[in-house]
Amino acid sequence: MNDIRIDSEFDSGNIEVLSIDGASAKLAIPLDDQAEFKQWFHFRAAGAAGRELELVITGLEKSAYPGGWPGYDACVSEDREFWGRAPSSYDAKTDGGALTIRYTPASDVAWFAYFAPYSMERHHDLVSEAAACEGVTHRTLGSTLDGQPIDCLDMGEGETQVWLYARQHPGETQAEWWMEGVLETLTDPSDSVGRILRQKCRFHIVPNCNPDGSRRGNLRVNGVGTNLNREWAEPTLEKSPEVLAIRGAMDETGVDFAIDAHGDEAIPAAFLAGFEGIPSWTDEQGESYYRYERILNRRTPDFQTELGYPKSAPGKANLSMSTNQVAERFGATAMTLEMPYKDNPKDPEPEQGWSPERSKMLGRDCMAALLEWLG
Ligand code: ZN
Repeated sequence: MNDIRIDSEFDSGNIEVLSIDGASAKLAIPLDDQAEFKQWFHFRAAGAAGRELELVITGLEKSAYPGGWPGYDACVSEDREFWGRAPSSYDAKTDGGALTIRYTPASDVAWFAYFAPYSMERHHDLVSEAAACEGVTHRTLGSTLDGQPIDCLDMGEGETQVWLYARQHPGETQAEWWMEGVLETLTDPSDSVGRILRQKCRFHIVPNCNPDGSRRGNLRVNGVGTNLNREWAEPTLEKSPEVLAIRGAMDETGVDFAIDAHGDEAIPAAFLAGFEGIPSWTDEQGESYYRYERILNRRTPDFQTELGYPKSAPGKANLSMSTNQVAERFGATAMTLEMPYKDNPKDPEPEQGWSPERSKMLGRDCMAALLEWLG
């Protein structure tokens, strides 16, 4: 039986091959560029049609979130359109923490990833399609250190300044799938939610805050090892030009409402995190956020409020994180949206788990919730 071949030299590819024997491979995840994080993987396995692949990713107790592996099934696709799940099992005691993925492809080429990838090519399709819609303008807020543009789409004629941005953490691809749902809602003239939102609000949308980390296949950092969501207090041209550009554009418009979209490795559910603990906290500003959370919770079973992050104590908010900085700096109703890599056990979808399609649906629900929140 021939040995399979494994490749990852492509947009957002990331894997190291330790050994291959027939249809079995021992693998490891390389660290993010100039950083200690590792969790994102994305590779192609070729030459195994009709044979069971056994792919063992080792060393995961030293990954960024070891809690992300128990209860997790790897994402797999044979046509790069539909992403399903391959049964996976995690053993913390073998090979420094090993995830074993088993899958029998029908065809000779199968793709595996931590979550359905969102390529820079697809990003450019998304931006170009939206920019071609009536009433939408595009601007480049700045350049990354690899020289990629930081794209921003502006639309709407209303007074309320809304900022929506995603993929500060590039391996959290759910966030840009979510953006597809948001942009489809806002740019479809037959969508009444989008139409009325654009009358009431001025939208500023950054679908990908970290193109360098995305293309390089990083989980959490840009091309020089910076975690952008720890740079919002003092961004610099040398380490975090992405944040410097986005925060500067926010200073020009002000911010009334903001969602920063992410994925969470360990918690098997979608949830929001707010800005408790900012120095200028008032119960009124806090309630404006909690009211949005309640509306979204009522609108979709794919969102919940039981699982989530602990709230910061008074005065203890970390102002280097975007949501806290935006709430403090602008008095905005700001929030971090987290979507899972796993599935929501209360509302499971066994074939796909949490998926690009569900991320997009949640984007639509978030816009409908915003319309209700505006009143
Ligand atoms: Zn994140």
